[in-house]
Amino acid sequence: MSDRVCLGRCNGAQRRKAEDHTRALATWQAALARWVDAPDDTRGPEPIRPVEPTYRWTAGTPIWCLSDSAAIRSALTDLDEQMALRLMAGDGHGSINLNERVTSSPEPGSPSPAHDQLDELVRWMREWENAYRETQGWPTAPVRGASAPALTSSVAWHLSHLDGILAHPDTAEGFGVGILYWHAQVTAAAKTKPKRSHIKGVRCRQCHVATLYRFEDEDGEVRVECRNRGCGENRGGPAVMTLAEFQGHVQTEADAEIARRAS
Ligand SMILES: [Zn+2]
Ligand SMILES: [Zn+2]
Repeated sequence: MSDRVCLGRCNGAQRRKAEDHTRALATWQAALARWVDAPDDTRGPEPIRPVEPTYRWTAGTPIWCLSDSAAIRSALTDLDEQMALRLMAGDGHGSINLNERVTSSPEPGSPSPAHDQLDELVRWMREWENAYRETQGWPTAPVRGASAPALTSSVAWHLSHLDGILAHPDTAEGFGVGILYWHAQVTAAAKTKPKRSHIKGVRCRQCHVATLYRFEDEDGEVRVECRNRGCGENRGGPAVMTLAEFQGHVQTEADAEIARRAS
């Protein structure tokens, strides 16, 4: 056991306590400065210095504690599967990926945010593999091929060397913190579903049924889509509109309604 404090979740409460104390000290110092500068006749009682809290830090063995090492190991183990789920879900649009019909992508070369994230993760893992290999005097990482299998074999390599990586001062912090971060990012993205809400009181311009839904994707892009299965049966599928098109449609409907009432 070293006296190095573990960087993990185990010390979260202690870190918050330390931050609170730092803030309390700053407040006290400012109050003390005002008190010193105050004219004698207006000076109240001297501000009292905040009491140093009692900390119970968990030490690393040697850098991460056993429980946080285990958390990193399980995040790393799960990362491969979460990434697979993320790729399967496309970009969180499930089966209703109509996005390309309403938006024109400025970069047609980029397949999807999910694949971009995978590529970035594979690169990041390789950098840390090489960093650890360097500490051991080993040759650089072999080329692991295409994205998804590359991640699987890279995860396997890191798992088999994890104890060493998490104990080495050059790699323990960066890799450990990074894996927890990556796992949170990929898991959140894998779960992301487009935000969907029914638009009441407006009929579809194609099937004239009030089955329009507003969708918002991860990037905040909004589109309006008809969910009536029969919509556009002979016309290439359900109506899909950009927000601007939808607003135009609502205006047209309103104008028609006014015209109807006037006649
Ligand atoms: Zn810990
Ligand atoms: Zn429709």
